[in-house]
Amino acid sequence: MAKKSIESPKPATARPKKPRPMPAASVRPFLTALAAGNPNPETELNYSDPFTLLVAVVLSAQATDVSVNRATATLYQEAATPASMVALGVEGVGRHIRSIGLWQGKARNVVALSQILLDQYGGTVPHDRMALEALPGVGRKTANVVLNVAFGEPTMAVDTHIFRIGNRTGLAPGATPRTVEDGLLKRIPPDMLRDAHNWLILHGRYICKARKPECWRCPATDWCRFQDKTPGAVEGQADSPITAPAAGRSGSQAV
Ligand code: SF4
Repeated sequence: MAKKSIESPKPATARPKKPRPMPAASVRPFLTALAAGNPNPETELNYSDPFTLLVAVVLSAQATDVSVNRATATLYQEAATPASMVALGVEGVGRHIRSIGLWQGKARNVVALSQILLDQYGGTVPHDRMALEALPGVGRKTANVVLNVAFGEPTMAVDTHIFRIGNRTGLAPGATPRTVEDGLLKRIPPDMLRDAHNWLILHGRYICKARKPECWRCPATDWCRFQDKTPGAVEGQADSPITAPAAGRSGSQAV
């Protein structure tokens, strides 16, 4: 006769509790706390003008900023304008970006968008959402980054970090990136909107991490509505910097 197991049934994996929405009055102090350590936040992609920013953001889909900076460091030595990118061609671009994900499609898109910039915009990057989103490889998120960083628009590009923080903290809960984006645009005070994009990305990258947020060293914990805050440092886990190490940056202006 089969022996009966005396083990108790495995507990179901605990689901994180749903955060309560952050009160409107907490939004400013929450962001002010994030800003305290980094008043002038910058994206970590290297660029020197709107075109090199646009190309870097297109290359950054499903790739780390560090890997993109490594690729563009050599790519931009050979081609840093739409005309030189077209002259370099898909194969030439591909030689520089092989180490990043989806490089073949990205090489095609970079050359195709460069050709469109030459044909339709005199070789410049248009300061226009619809025109940007019509370019190959450019979606709403990429257009938001370019509009924010290159043109100073108060846009919010919802990447994986901002989507997580919007939901986890109760800042702007939503089932899709667009609902989180709309919630953030509505709730963040206008004077903080432009920088909020980078404050949130950097906070998600270095402190409010996906698997284990480092709540014990979070400056905004008083206003965050996440109910399962991590109480202390996880053994063997070193604190990571709020901004990227210098080794991650190279070449031109780090944004
Ligand atoms: S307290 Fe924790 S969950 Fe809340 S924002 Fe800070 S790191 Fe994220």
